[in-house]
Amino acid sequence: MLTNDQLARWDRENFFHPSTHLAQHARGETPTRVIRTAKGVYIEDRDGRQMLDAFAGLYCVNVGYGRPEIADAIADQARELAYYHAYVGHGTEASITLAQMVMERAPKGMSKVYFGLSGSDANETNIKLIWYYNNILNRPEKKKIISRWRGYHGSGVMTGSLTGLSGFHNKFDLPRAPILHTEAPYYFRRPEGIDTEEAFTAHCVAELEALIEREGADTIAAFIGEPVLGTGGIVPPPAGYWDAIQKVLAKHDVLLVADEVVTGFGRLGTMFGSDHYGMKPDLITIAKGLTSAYAPLSGSIVGDKMWKVLEQGTDENGPIGHGWTYSAHPIGAAAGVANLKLIDSLGLVENAGKTGAYLNRAMKAVLGDHPNVGDIRGEGMLCAVEFVEDRDSRRFFDASAKTGPQIAAALASEGVIGRAMPQGDILGFAPPLCLSEAEADLIVAATKKAVTQVLG
Ligand code: PLP
Repeated sequence: MLTNDQLARWDRENFFHPSTHLAQHARGETPTRVIRTAKGVYIEDRDGRQMLDAFAGLYCVNVGYGRPEIADAIADQARELAYYHAYVGHGTEASITLAQMVMERAPKGMSKVYFGLSGSDANETNIKLIWYYNNILNRPEKKKIISRWRGYHGSGVMTGSLTGLSGFHNKFDLPRAPILHTEAPYYFRRPEGIDTEEAFTAHCVAELEALIEREGADTIAAFIGEPVLGTGGIVPPPAGYWDAIQKVLAKHDVLLVADEVVTGFGRLGTMFGSDHYGMKPDLITIAKGLTSAYAPLSGSIVGDKMWKVLEQGTDENGPIGHGWTYSAHPIGAAAGVANLKLIDSLGLVENAGKTGAYLNRAMKAVLGDHPNVGDIRGEGMLCAVEFVEDRDSRRFFDASAKTGPQIAAALASEGVIGRAMPQGDILGFAPPLCLSEAEADLIVAATKKAVTQVLG
């Protein structure tokens, strides 16, 4: 068997890791972490050290690790038919069944699902479909897409532009036109002088209206948003936000894309975040929870209104010029079918709502009074703790102090994985949806210890 030292050397010499400080890693200043196996909410490294994964990988292993039902479905599919493409009407039992299962669960008014590989490529698909749609409707100027600061929609050229986080733009010449950003619905970081969620919602709406006025509604094609901001800080929207935003979009004939890569398939305690907030999207992005990351698979769910126009487009222009080799990959589709069945049979949507609320309550009870805890927020099985230098004036720590990453590291040494969110001192939690109350208690107790260790 290879030694850990051998693997660490090969890792440093050969492996270009995503979202990693490349120079430090190559110099061996950051550890190589080799995860060997996992079960339930626990991952285990090569030394047998177990950690409670309170971020479900990257908020994706929703059914928990080590589910034999999904492993068997993948193995059976690989043996029977590892691959065939989905072009010109080809399918497999798995991909056709999964499409049916997704559409049975999708919010009302949705028509078809296109399968991709990742959240990023699904959002690329969405932007192409939006442009195609407006071209078929003879509105060639209506092409700009509005996203929000702190939104996360992927890290390709287009999707990295949609993303509203500076670390994904700097030195990459992003964002690129025709992407525009508007106010993040982030009440804790609201401007001075706004003191209620309703007033902040009105402010966000006014900002959006002003942007549309400035650019001209006939140039704005779509608005994209996560029901709950994820990587931007795990931030549920202020009261009335989605209702008010949708009124503006309807007035200006702007499409709505709900990016449900994190919220899709149960994380908020409802099958989709759109159900939770009464959103009526024209497109829904799905990924992570679709297969619980047992295999890569994503999707773009297309609403009735757009679908009619896409059909019209192919009647006029021939087959749609869009597709990936691995669209609807049979192994991903088999994983998806087994995963959605498990979510149902284990009652995980309900558990996400119930145990997620328990986790949020417990976190508030234990850390709510800490002088450096400015905000504890969440929805369903999502929770975040935001740290501040001064609570009354909402003064943030200097970013160079790396308070959030220090607390995440202290938490890891307590045996629990949370995520230092990339912009701000925010500790995020997005555990598997099968989390128990006893496991939630462990997360909270370890967080309390980690915060005390770093901030006193
Ligand atoms: N959209 C949202 C809301 C996400 O959180 C992510 C990833 O975290 C993506 C899109 C991109 O997905 P992927 O990393 O699979 O490309």
